[in-house]
Amino acid sequence: MLDAAPPEFDAADGAEIAASCFGFRGSSTGLPSERDQNFLLSAEDGGKAILKISNASEQVEVVEMEIAAALHAKRVDPDLPIAMPWRPPDAAASGAAAHHVSFEGPGGDRHLIRVYDFMPGAPLTDPLSLDHDALWEFGRVLARLGKALRGFFHPAAGRPLLWDIQHAAELRPLAVKVADPERRALLGRALDGFEERVLPRWPLLRSQVIHGDLSIDNVTLDGEQRISGIIDFGDMSHTALMADITSAWASVVWSHRGEKLYRAAAALLDGYRTVTPLEEIELEMLADLFAARAAASAAISAVRVAEHPDNTYIAAFDTNAWPLLELLDELGPEEAARRFGARSYSSSASIDELLERRVRNLGPALMAPTYSRPLHLVRGEGVWMSDPEGRRYLDAYNNVPVVGHSHPRVLEALARQARTLNTNMRYLHEAVLELAERVVDSMPADSGLDTVMFVNSGSEANDLAWRIATAHSGDTGGLASDYAYHGISSVIADLSPEGSSAPMPANVDRFPPPDAEGKRPAGGFEAALQRLDDRGVRLAAVLVDGYFTSDGVYPPSSTYLEEIVRLTHEAGALYVADEVQAGHGRSGEHLWSFAASGIRPDIVTLGKPMGNGYPVAALVTRREIVEGLSHLREFFSTFGGNPPAAVTALTVLDVIEDEQLVARAAEVGAILRDGITGLAHSHPAIGAVRGWGQMTGVEIATGDGSTPDPELADRIKNGLREQGVLVGTTGPADNVLKVRPPLVFGAGHAEILLAALGAVLSELS
Ligand code: PMP
Repeated sequence: MLDAAPPEFDAADGAEIAASCFGFRGSSTGLPSERDQNFLLSAEDGGKAILKISNASEQVEVVEMEIAAALHAKRVDPDLPIAMPWRPPDAAASGAAAHHVSFEGPGGDRHLIRVYDFMPGAPLTDPLSLDHDALWEFGRVLARLGKALRGFFHPAAGRPLLWDIQHAAELRPLAVKVADPERRALLGRALDGFEERVLPRWPLLRSQVIHGDLSIDNVTLDGEQRISGIIDFGDMSHTALMADITSAWASVVWSHRGEKLYRAAAALLDGYRTVTPLEEIELEMLADLFAARAAASAAISAVRVAEHPDNTYIAAFDTNAWPLLELLDELGPEEAARRFGARSYSSSASIDELLERRVRNLGPALMAPTYSRPLHLVRGEGVWMSDPEGRRYLDAYNNVPVVGHSHPRVLEALARQARTLNTNMRYLHEAVLELAERVVDSMPADSGLDTVMFVNSGSEANDLAWRIATAHSGDTGGLASDYAYHGISSVIADLSPEGSSAPMPANVDRFPPPDAEGKRPAGGFEAALQRLDDRGVRLAAVLVDGYFTSDGVYPPSSTYLEEIVRLTHEAGALYVADEVQAGHGRSGEHLWSFAASGIRPDIVTLGKPMGNGYPVAALVTRREIVEGLSHLREFFSTFGGNPPAAVTALTVLDVIEDEQLVARAAEVGAILRDGITGLAHSHPAIGAVRGWGQMTGVEIATGDGSTPDPELADRIKNGLREQGVLVGTTGPADNVLKVRPPLVFGAGHAEILLAALGAVLSELS
């Protein structure tokens, strides 16, 4: 194709051919084309059409494919302004499907002749005149066209076109024809990048038959610069969908310079994304694909200019390609993709640099990152997270991704709802109502917990619980366990000795967590009540984390909880079951940890795992508790219960059910604890192993096992990190290993953890 010169008919020939083949009578004017010849036909009655005379070497299959594709796309998306091929009068009369005629030229060459609708609007002469909205709309039409062709197939689409970036590696022989040595090297580097980073993964790109050249030459625009006509299907092939984007980009974006270049690219891509979101691999390859397209232009035009020095249409190709290649070369693929609107974070920025920026920008109050060699993580899948170098870490610490990192169903539901509608509780939406019903149904049948309020974090849920309890009782006293953590709001921080070193205010006191057997240390709670009473404070609320996690993981017995509930109610206060950490199946018995004990809390707070990482939290209570609270009538949380949050939370509940994660939490948690208890025989540093379901605390102690050894716990934690296993530490002395993995953690993962723990303990002892 590269070597075939366009046909050489003049305007009068064009008019004659249109008349003889399609019965169109009128005048004809030549239009530019790369390898065919096009004429604008004008009839006396004002009617217009486009005559297309194909290059003599054009194959009939290709022409038939172009016709079939235009007809197909128009059928799928009738609003696309596609120029339709005409049927010649003979075909119309005979009922044949052909939309082309074969015509013999003066030299005996046969040319395929077509006539297309003349599309309204004006040709796009200067892509720099396209504003943001026009580029956005251009991207949108491009995506619609791609979508309309999704189901289209034609055998001729397999033909190789040099313009098609899948053949970029074949540009090498042309690249040597570039005279300037620096430019030749630049082109070489772009092709290297293509061969190294794109070609091996090319088969992973979404592919189909695409238009391949929605460019300034192939569209007309209306007065508002929106595409009013799509007029040429001459560059179709079966290739990556991304090739549609790279050619549109080459045509309408890359003549912009400086910041405008990036804004123009983002506008085109953003419009495209409204119809067809880009896939991860497409975003990763974006810059290399742009470079391949620029390389194709530069190389092909170098050759064609040499071969057809008098064809100005051909000469115009390379003016933008070179500066673009230079820019892409300078930016590197990752930075270039980011600048062009494909933000991603897989970079291998150094740990020191990230730490410095963290301290500089996030201030001194933020907790230090875990581990003496902080982890820079860029990816998560199931129970694994990985760093920029691709090293995987087994996540035995994080409870938020309860159904596993990046759970595909949850993410799909979230993205789909976020694309559809994300608004707030001022309006009606079914998802949040379904979630509320689902949460209420999940509570113990006789609990009376029938009312749900949505917020965004565990802290907010507990803060709201506090407002309700204080308003309900008219009192101001609060109790939490000795080393509890319930959140960051100022009131809840007072009830979170773990998270705050501020002095305890007069209205707050603490009670002891269960002992190692889950029993209640005698008189502890009563003493706390008495201290409040001594300060003239009456109790409003008691907050209880179902696992006493930050106290060091002390699973409570039913008796412990029953007694605390009884004492709370006797004091006229509300019992708040904080299920932010313990809930969503971790107990291995029920979705909510308190349920097994038979207690009936007044308020239940939910959070962390609720959205598997998307912020969503809730408070569940009984209707009569909030009914009397006039100052809570106008309760509204901007993000609380938004449709994506609700849909995500519902999907998390679906997955917990479908993957039977509650049962798995019990089963694998027990395997873990058995294994760790086994290791304790040969490693005396392991003291008590406590837990319940998929939550385990491992006491690290010295001497007879009663002296906490936080230094050793820290070294074990860091040693495990080096082994690729992530756990935390907790407890007032910070000597308890906290093993709290996503619930998809399986027996095989437990084995990996146990082997690593054994190895680390052997190394440290
Ligand atoms: N309650 C408990 C028991 C928690 O573990 C936490 C978080 N660690 C919170 C409340 C606070 O949740 P958030 O960080 O979402 O505000």
